[in-house]
Amino acid sequence: MTRGHFLDGDWVPGTGALTVTDPSTGEPAGAVAAGDAAVVDRAVAAARAAFPGWAARPLDTRIALVRAIREGIARERDALARVLTAEMGAPITFARQAQVGVALADLDALIAAAEAGEPETQVSRSRVVAEPAGVVAAITPWNFPLHQIVLKLGAALLAGCTVVLKPSEVAPLNAVALADLLAGAGLPAGVVNVVFGTGPDVGEPLVAHPDVDLVSFTGSRAVGGRIGALAGAAIKRVSLELGGKSAAVMLPDTDLTTAAPQLVGACFANTGQTCAALTRLLVPAGTEDDWLDAVAGALAPWAPADPRLESTLLGPLASHPQRDRVRGHIQAALADGARLVLGGPETPAGLGSGAYLAPTVFTGVDPAMRLFREEVFGPVLAVTAYRTEDEAAALANDSDYGLSGGVWSADPERALAFARRIRTGTVGLNGAGLDVGAPFGGVKQSGVGRECGSHGIAEFQELKTIMGAPALPAR
Ligand code: NAD
Repeated sequence: MTRGHFLDGDWVPGTGALTVTDPSTGEPAGAVAAGDAAVVDRAVAAARAAFPGWAARPLDTRIALVRAIREGIARERDALARVLTAEMGAPITFARQAQVGVALADLDALIAAAEAGEPETQVSRSRVVAEPAGVVAAITPWNFPLHQIVLKLGAALLAGCTVVLKPSEVAPLNAVALADLLAGAGLPAGVVNVVFGTGPDVGEPLVAHPDVDLVSFTGSRAVGGRIGALAGAAIKRVSLELGGKSAAVMLPDTDLTTAAPQLVGACFANTGQTCAALTRLLVPAGTEDDWLDAVAGALAPWAPADPRLESTLLGPLASHPQRDRVRGHIQAALADGARLVLGGPETPAGLGSGAYLAPTVFTGVDPAMRLFREEVFGPVLAVTAYRTEDEAAALANDSDYGLSGGVWSADPERALAFARRIRTGTVGLNGAGLDVGAPFGGVKQSGVGRECGSHGIAEFQELKTIMGAPALPAR
């Protein structure tokens, strides 16, 4: 059944339909409506009309509604995980624990931040009031689709904004399930509207719409540049969470046995389709073979398999076009002279017509090679040797991107000192992963702005300075 758009609290049939493909089989997994500029107009009008009422609600009632949405997601955890497995191939255990689990953690952290936040503060001689930015356009990708949606939705709603969401056309079915939960949670009509369709047909008219105050985008660098240009021309705020080419730096005193499985998880989870994946492994010169052995050993359980099996760690790529793009990156690495150690461009045997690739490891990857520089977004690791810590820092920073990174050392202070030298938005020490209570975002070509927790809510607020107001009592 083709679901329509979710406009002003109702499901409204669309004119066209977009088929969603199960990447593990190549069979249809469902369909959604294909929107256009006229549907965007209706959605923005509904969000605009709902804005004054939503913004005026006391914060605790907004928190209660976001908590009800969170409870709905928790209740439907298994069903949502199955939807994600069907539409983008996430292994079912990972879908349940990580894909849906992170969405729940996102909302917990946002709710805690809203509860602890100060909507009004005394700054210098003035009262500073954090006000909702208005009508928000949220545009999201397919790799952690539910997480990326709720991170924007939760923060925007807590800030007092209303939302028009355009989920990825590759994996929109989780957004259909989420919209079903919104009405059940008691969210007033028009506060969240969901429009389905492609970037050019729906995304661009949404970004350019004069009644949209702020655009929050997660996706590729190329589309982020286009959205930034459209938003800039219209003088509206924009936040961009884009790609990465993050380095894992193994300092010489690192314990290989502990670090190798951590690194494998940080690179290959979600079939390598994670913006913050650690895809460049930097190891001391002379230790490459030890690391390659340890990585190969840690990858033993990561053979590609049916994502519906509870034991599967590595599912298919999220779509057949994505599989073909990743294959192109592997072929480019071979052409550039990188040495293939594991995997490769071939389709793994025995998995039917799914969009599978084997976990792939290259060594001898130097900064001139495309594999060192370009985001692959697939199960591919590039190993590069460094001679000194200065060279390791230079290699880690030799990227147009600046999203994430990892540093391993037996000495946490040494790891921390090295982390300060990496120019990225986040860095994990000794395998520490995403902290959804702390700011997440990139520098350089990885984007503009921060999501998660109190910083994520602040992205959806405007500060108003009221001079001459009665001073707030000191706290
Ligand atoms: P994408 O940029 O192709 O699409 C993202 C969204 O933008 C989709 O909803 C798409 O329909 C829409 N879109 C496409 N063209 C548009 C246009 N011209 N105007 C408006 N909207 C448009 O990205 P993707 O392939 O879905 O996702 C993968 C990319 O996302 C990777 O580069 C990855 O690194 C990045 N990503 C970043 C983060 C982060 O937080 N930094 C998180 C996840 C993914």
